[in-house]
Amino acid sequence: TVRTRVAPSPTGDPHVGTAYIALFNLAFARQHGGQFILRIEDTDQARSTPESEQAIMDSMRWLGLEWDEGPDVGGEFGPYRQSERRDVYLEHVQKLLDSGHAFKCYRTAEELDALRLARQEQGSLTALKPSDLLLPADEVARREAAGEPYVVRMKVPEEGVCVVDDMLRGAIELDWAQVDAQILLKSDGMPTYHLANVVDDHLMKITHVIRGEEWISSAPKHKLLYEYFGWDMPHLCHMPLLRNPDKSKLSKRKNPTSILFYDRMGYMPEALLNYLGRMGWSMPDESEKFTRDQMFANFDIKRVSLGGPVFDVEKLRWLNSLWVRELDAETFAQRFAAWGLRPQNILPVIPHVQPRIETFSDVVPLAGHFLSGLTPLTPASFEHKAYDEERLLTVLQFGLWQLEEIRHWSKEDIEARLFALARLLDIKVRDFLFPFFIAIAGTSATISVLDSMALLGPDMSRARLRHAID
Ligand code: ATP
Ligand code: GLU
Repeated sequence: TVRTRVAPSPTGDPHVGTAYIALFNLAFARQHGGQFILRIEDTDQARSTPESEQAIMDSMRWLGLEWDEGPDVGGEFGPYRQSERRDVYLEHVQKLLDSGHAFKCYRTAEELDALRLARQEQGSLTALKPSDLLLPADEVARREAAGEPYVVRMKVPEEGVCVVDDMLRGAIELDWAQVDAQILLKSDGMPTYHLANVVDDHLMKITHVIRGEEWISSAPKHKLLYEYFGWDMPHLCHMPLLRNPDKSKLSKRKNPTSILFYDRMGYMPEALLNYLGRMGWSMPDESEKFTRDQMFANFDIKRVSLGGPVFDVEKLRWLNSLWVRELDAETFAQRFAAWGLRPQNILPVIPHVQPRIETFSDVVPLAGHFLSGLTPLTPASFEHKAYDEERLLTVLQFGLWQLEEIRHWSKEDIEARLFALARLLDIKVRDFLFPFFIAIAGTSATISVLDSMALLGPDMSRARLRHAID
């Protein structure tokens, strides 16, 4: 039976790209009466968080992307979280060491830098190969005896062509010269993506790997690992990446990429899923509006076109309008209330609002920006004695750049960065924050703008600042 999977890394807000890949995996599995698996690839312990994992699962469920096996629902081939599978990986690395397909590499970071520099100077474009990394046997023995850290790397051919079959592209030829002696096990004993991914796809009996095209260049390593282990390789299908309207790869600097943003903006999950289904794919009758089940009933992976699909928020908005207008008044009322008054969105706002109001009707004037999308603004909204237009733009643009650097969105980080910028530009904090109040809330008669940004999340905050700058 067909088994597909989506394998997100829980290192940030849930990405529309993850939902897009999940949708096509699910559609393919359903079309063939197979199973769809959610696997959490959290081997990067420094960047993975349980909150991100939870947000990914919540967002997928919100969209209607249900999995048959996964970390929370279990299944025959678990655990489905890679951090809980270390022993499995260690055992498999040992097999490769025993068969001579992998080797321990004691090279230090400085030595690796020197090796890379030397190649650059020679103008060599070849990747680092096992032969480059080899140390004399007595030196290996010395470092081993001294207990120095090592990684395990895979052996790779020095030259020749690797042919990888892709369901959409046919045979892809890749040059072995470009493929490095990939690290399989890091010095902390954790596997890299490549090892864990191949071992898990095999043990979880995945038959079709449908993923983003950014992984094509990894396919030769994966193919070789399947050969080393003596396993059949699943079919590969590399989906075109989502693009910004200017055709560059979709990125949060230009467009909101978090599913949480689209929820907060009040898009219907059915409409967002419908739009993702239109990314590189179309219904046989070319209809624009269709449900998940209509998509599954008509799905054919061969209809995926490789021209980069553009994720255009304006187009999504239009599609969403079709969905919203079709609701009968009763359902509309229910859905609207469920969206706007959801405890998880409302509860965190209450402590900031409650001390400042006298009646419930004071809430919306004070905190309406938690229910709105992009605030309507005019130059007059920003009029302030401390600012001319140029200074205003400087503050907003520099502020936006600072906020883009934040890894884990929190009030403390937002405050630290913005206050440092205020000092740098030598503007009083009160004056400095004024344009942020306007951009984020449309008014300065509201709760702390730092709290507002923390609660609205990175994508919504950045989108409002970008909107104010435009
Ligand atoms: P950045 O926005 O900084 O470029 P990113 O968008 O690549 O980062 P990641 O955290 O690396 O964000 O990606 C999260 C998930 O979304 C990954 O599974 C990745 O494959 C997927 N993804 C990212 N960008 C795209 C895209 N343009 N199309 C499809 N999937 C994407
Ligand atoms: N963890 C990888 C990602 O985040 C999975 C890639 C794959 O599907 O092989 O995209």
